Amino acid sequence: MISKAIPLPSLTGFSERNGNWYAEDIALADLAREFGTPLYVYSKSALSKAYQAYDKACVDKQGKRRARIHYAMKANSNLAVINCFKELGAGFDLVSGGELARALAIGADPKSLVFAGVGKSAKEIAEALKAGVKCINVESIAELHKINRVATELGLRAPISLRVNPDVDAQTHPYISTGLKGNKFGIAYHEVLKTYREASQLAQIDVVGIDCHIGSQITTTAPYLDALDKVLDLVAQLKKEGIVIHHLDLGGGLGISYSDETPPDITDFTDTLLNRVAERGFGHLDVVLEPGRSLVGNAGVLLTTVEYLKPGAEKNFCIVDAAMTELMRPALYEAHHGIVPVQAKQAKALTYDVVGPVCESGDWLGRDRHLAVEEGDLLAILSAGAYGFVMASNYNTRPKPAEIIVDGKNAYVIRARENTSDLFASEAVLPK
Ligand SMILES: *Cc1c(COP(=O)(O)O)cnc(C)c1O
Repeated sequence: MISKAIPLPSLTGFSERNGNWYAEDIALADLAREFGTPLYVYSKSALSKAYQAYDKACVDKQGKRRARIHYAMKANSNLAVINCFKELGAGFDLVSGGELARALAIGADPKSLVFAGVGKSAKEIAEALKAGVKCINVESIAELHKINRVATELGLRAPISLRVNPDVDAQTHPYISTGLKGNKFGIAYHEVLKTYREASQLAQIDVVGIDCHIGSQITTTAPYLDALDKVLDLVAQLKKEGIVIHHLDLGGGLGISYSDETPPDITDFTDTLLNRVAERGFGHLDVVLEPGRSLVGNAGVLLTTVEYLKPGAEKNFCIVDAAMTELMRPALYEAHHGIVPVQAKQAKALTYDVVGPVCESGDWLGRDRHLAVEEGDLLAILSAGAYGFVMASNYNTRPKPAEIIVDGKNAYVIRARENTSDLFASEAVLPK
């Protein structure tokens, strides 16, 4: 079968020189030799550059800050990664008590934390209130009452936003679309005003903002503008009723290029949104953006070793030591990741499905890839910095891979490879 060449994303931090792939100044082959595979490799400069592009776009020509960045850490929550963003000035978007604990572990300012998620438990709400987070984004009327109850028990006030479900189509994969009325996220558009009225009457609740997040891997600005207009209509109505909103959280979701996608330029994107906010007379609001994928997605690769080549009547399989357990996106969303040989070879190129060792037919990493590879070769799976390691599992009793960050000529282990024995250390057999 002849497959057409699929373009690779353009990357910063990773490059090919004379057939050899590098992370900054270190050959990926050297990293694989030193740290083993499968291995997640991130580039510090790629993280920083992605952040700085956003940060620059959030400041106007006079140097006035127009928006704040709260990195959505579910995309990649390694302490070293989130600490890099903290040092660059980011706040964080959290979706669990576990992520709150990570933010506190690196000494993030609680006032830079926003807590979202459809199913926050009373325990998680209490932890967030005790920590003193900037805002809890409320996703249902029942949750609003639970927050009020927990805050009453603790004798604390609860700063909240309502997460609006604006019912706009983000034109992305159905599993990562969150702003349609059939999605589980947010408060239905027609119930938002009534819920704000209710919130403003609750003893321990402080209404501070409004929020929406319409999905992920969005590659056009139009759905954001649709959502923004609908949210601003609500803010205007609330103002008439004397309910004052201080911040406007527009969520994350901006896409990246995995192959030939062309997401909007960050500056054009933020200008379009922030100009609309100003034009409609809401320039005084603090705007919050919550990018995840677009800060880390193209700042990481997954290195893997070819275990076997298995030619077949219908398909040739390239069986590698990484699997859906390391990178679940292909199995979960049929996501595409560029796959390149780490060192160019003279081997005969064939079309392969690149698959892992896990006992599932859904365990594949790339389909119909034209690759010149031999057993023992290294492959780099590109654009694996977001929703990669964080979705890793121990299925088939597979230890999770190590993660490293490359900074120039230096490589740092930021998470050690798991040991097999660790995986069942907390299990026990029944007594005799
Ligand atoms: C996941 C998520 C984000 C980040 O989405 P990306 O597509 O990674 O930018 C932002 N805000 C909320 C509430 C989220 O759930």
